[in-house]
Amino acid sequence: MPDRDRDGQVASITTQEVPPVRRHRSSEVIVAEQKTVTTVEETEGEDGSPVKTTHTRPGTKVMYKPTEHQGYQAKTVAGSAVGMLLGQGWFEFCPDCNSEHLNKDGVASTDPNLCSAREPLAVRVCPVCQKRIYDNVRSAEGEQDTGDVNVIADDSYAKSTGATRTRASLDLHIWVRHPRQAQQMNLAPLPVALRDMVEEVKT
Ligand SMILES: [Zn+2]
Ligand SMILES: [Zn+2]
Repeated sequence: MPDRDRDGQVASITTQEVPPVRRHRSSEVIVAEQKTVTTVEETEGEDGSPVKTTHTRPGTKVMYKPTEHQGYQAKTVAGSAVGMLLGQGWFEFCPDCNSEHLNKDGVASTDPNLCSAREPLAVRVCPVCQKRIYDNVRSAEGEQDTGDVNVIADDSYAKSTGATRTRASLDLHIWVRHPRQAQQMNLAPLPVALRDMVEEVKT
């Protein structure tokens, strides 16, 4: 009976294992979610009675920005920019691991080592402000083969490692953000080429 054959086909399709795919929500829905954050501060008035002060500030959201060679990068953005960024190919979850990157407290975080789909990056911690400075190059980046025979292979540019790159970034960070401490730590002076950058980064 042809009818029964058709039923059989439908059944076999529905029992197939489908990998869980993160549901894409429409940008209208995501944009509508963005709102200002209201916090209520409770203090005591002069007579000891409780006083409530309400603070409002624009909300932020962690979004995932497409990069050319390093997958998607988590960034904190203003809630008001969410619609525009969705239009530019950003996601509200990481397409690499198909989920949001949550820290140990379950809060959305920009820590690049939270992506389960990627190798963790080398990281150094600023001794002054505890900012985490991540290695900006993933190991696979040096291995691109363009297939172009005119490209000269020169290993001298490939000698940086996670340790040397993060050291250079941390030194730069300390010079830019904590110049007094940089001097006290006897950090090597910045190369002349980077000195203009210090002024740029400051602004
Ligand atoms: Zn991820
Ligand atoms: Zn610092």
